[in-house]
Amino acid sequence: MGEFELIRRYFTRSSANAVLGIGDDAALVAPSAGMQLAIAADTMVEGRHFFPGTDPHSLGWKALAVNLSDMAAMGADPRWFTLCLTLPSVDERWLSGFAEGLFALADRFGVSLIGGDTTSGPLSISIQIIGEVPVGRALRRSGAQAGDDVWLSGVTGAAALAVRQRMGEVVVGDLEREFCAGKLDRPEPRVVLGQALRGIATSAIDVSDGLLADLGHIAKASGVQILLDQWAIPLPPLSVRAELLDELVLSGGDDYELVFTAPASRRTLVEDLALSAGVSLTRIGMVEAGNGVALFGRDGHIVQPHKAGFDHFLN
Ligand code: ADP
Ligand code: MG
Repeated sequence: MGEFELIRRYFTRSSANAVLGIGDDAALVAPSAGMQLAIAADTMVEGRHFFPGTDPHSLGWKALAVNLSDMAAMGADPRWFTLCLTLPSVDERWLSGFAEGLFALADRFGVSLIGGDTTSGPLSISIQIIGEVPVGRALRRSGAQAGDDVWLSGVTGAAALAVRQRMGEVVVGDLEREFCAGKLDRPEPRVVLGQALRGIATSAIDVSDGLLADLGHIAKASGVQILLDQWAIPLPPLSVRAELLDELVLSGGDDYELVFTAPASRRTLVEDLALSAGVSLTRIGMVEAGNGVALFGRDGHIVQPHKAGFDHFLN
């Protein structure tokens, strides 16, 4: 099977929301009136972002999920995406599993595949996503204000335990392994929540590198200090030793939850949002004048976290 047949068979779907989809030299889309485009991209390289042999359905799901998560963090409505796929060979079983995972999520959020590129080489998946957000209303990292609350969706830590387990660093029971694998392989992008936070959150980011590291980005971009209460940060139901659990929750990464700031006056509104968006929201700290992220341990003293997060060129 050649390149064109491969694209036709596995990736050409109706793209009703585009003016012109797959098949020409470029796709054409028409932005809606009063909207700005929000554009993000994420690449996943075998052996670097995922383990060799990861099932293709999960890869299709996750490659899109991490991009949808960027849309969520901006409060944008995801609309279109492109897919640049580098494949070592044409493996039809792999391709159909990958396409299934990819389109399962695409259909759920009404986002259309409108183009891409297909090449041969070491397995790598790169998606660029385009969303829309009302002019001037995107959630940025830079809007946190002294006095704001800090909120976290869901629970962090489980995806990072799946990574440790697959690297052979920890041994966990079957049920826990499955739970963590689900979090790592099929994250739930918080798209509905992100859009609902427009006009409420003053800043937002999705947790990809670790809770502390990503909050550090908000603190820096906003020119504020973030104070976290460790006792308030939710823990996943994992039976690992306490120090490891804390490390996973604070610095693990790959969670794709949203962490955001909002004025204290909006507390009830945020709590109501948790119900309408169908995700738990926990108040984990507050914003003050200053810089960086400080963590108050369970005894009320400031603790020095072991390791902040992941950086491709520092780790
Ligand atoms: P060109 O030679 O102009 O770069 P290609 O031959 O690479 O075009 O691609 C042909 C068409 O198929 C284009 O519309 C391109 O956007 C689309 N396409 C290529 N690869 C993919 C892919 N992996 N997923 C979706 N569309 C793709
Ligand atoms: Mg091309």
